Amino acid sequence: MDSETIRCRRCDKDSAPLAKAPFRNDLGDRVLREICSSCWQDWLQHQTLLINHYGLDPREKAARNFLYEQIEQVLFDRGEGKEIDTSKEGTIEW
Ligand SMILES: [Zn+2]
Repeated sequence: MDSETIRCRRCDKDSAPLAKAPFRNDLGDRVLREICSSCWQDWLQHQTLLINHYGLDPREKAARNFLYEQIEQVLFDRGEGKEIDTSKEGTIEW
C-alpha cells in the first residue's frame, strides 16, 4: 500500500529505498529500484573497508569498476564479495 517501499533484493524485506540513485548509470538505477537504504548503508561500510584495504581511488575508472563489480556480487548475487586478505595488501585480485 505504501509506494515508498520496495522489496529489497538483498534482505528480502519491504523497506525504504534510497532517496536517489547513488550513481548515474544502470547500476545506480538498479540499486535505487531493488536495494533498501539500510542494505546500502551496510554496503557503504564494506566499501570503505575495500577502499582502505586496496588503496582505491574512486576517481579512477578502474577503481570504480572494481567497486561496481563488488556491488553486483554483494548486493545483487547475495555473495560475500571479496575477502579482505591482509597478506595481499595493496593488490587487487580478480
Ligand atoms: Zn535490504
